[in-house]
Amino acid sequence: GRCWLDGRWLPLAQARVSVLDRGFLFGDGVYEVIPVYGGRPLRLEQHLDRLEASLGHIRLANPLPRARWRELLAEAVHEGGGGDLALYLQVTRGPAPRRDHAFPAEPRPTVLVLPSPLADAGALRARGAVVVTLPDIRWRWCHVKAITLLANVLARQQAAELGADEALLVRDGLVSEGSASNVFVVADGVVRTPPKGEHMLPGITRDLVLELLREAGLPCREEPLPAARLAGAEEIWISSSTRELLPVVRLDGRPVGDGRPGPLFARAWALYDAYREAVRRG
Ligand code: PLP
Repeated sequence: GRCWLDGRWLPLAQARVSVLDRGFLFGDGVYEVIPVYGGRPLRLEQHLDRLEASLGHIRLANPLPRARWRELLAEAVHEGGGGDLALYLQVTRGPAPRRDHAFPAEPRPTVLVLPSPLADAGALRARGAVVVTLPDIRWRWCHVKAITLLANVLARQQAAELGADEALLVRDGLVSEGSASNVFVVADGVVRTPPKGEHMLPGITRDLVLELLREAGLPCREEPLPAARLAGAEEIWISSSTRELLPVVRLDGRPVGDGRPGPLFARAWALYDAYREAVRRG
């Protein structure tokens, strides 16, 4: 495969970044992951809006105008051979003359675009995800999609070692999100998800799921999610661009509901699936 790095498409084996790149030295950069169905990106403008917001938070000027991003991502779809893809894009503050925490006077951002096949989450969806709760040890700006993901990496690894597919992160008694997903809980027949804020990434999939539920007239609420509420939940779901929507069937070693994907999940997934197929058809 090939990736786009600093202005051109290159075979992956030839793509090189300086050891002085601030992405490498400091994790000083932001990223996006955009799902593509049948060669068509899902919610492209929302992803580019969030990239713009992330760049704003880290005070890095967007290196490319919106029209160029659209063009470049269309090239990436072509490079990836069309079909179902995940487009990874990353912007770092680029190489600096020396390792200094403060910004270089004139940053030259490093831009990477990397298409790869979208892994099918169907089997995991059918079986249902296993999750564990873990303390959220991340910094306070979790709304920024920063490449600095050490706490997320440690949480996901700990989950894997416990035989789980995802970690749900708990801060001050509240569930913020997963290590790489947003979270929904069904209690008293109402779908609940934490409101946006600095404690979590504003997931594009989360927004889409909420939108689809509301359009279908299903009751949902954006409200803080006490961790204590998880144990009695009727259903738990997680959402992300690559895994779409998944039912959670085990939490901290105990079944969620009757231990099988719930009825509201089935409805939400049918809505999501229909939306995805509409994207595919164009
Ligand atoms: N929360 C975190 C920490 C993530 O890394 C992600 C993305 O994988 C999400 C939530 C879900 O966001 P999106 O639906 O935009 O992929």
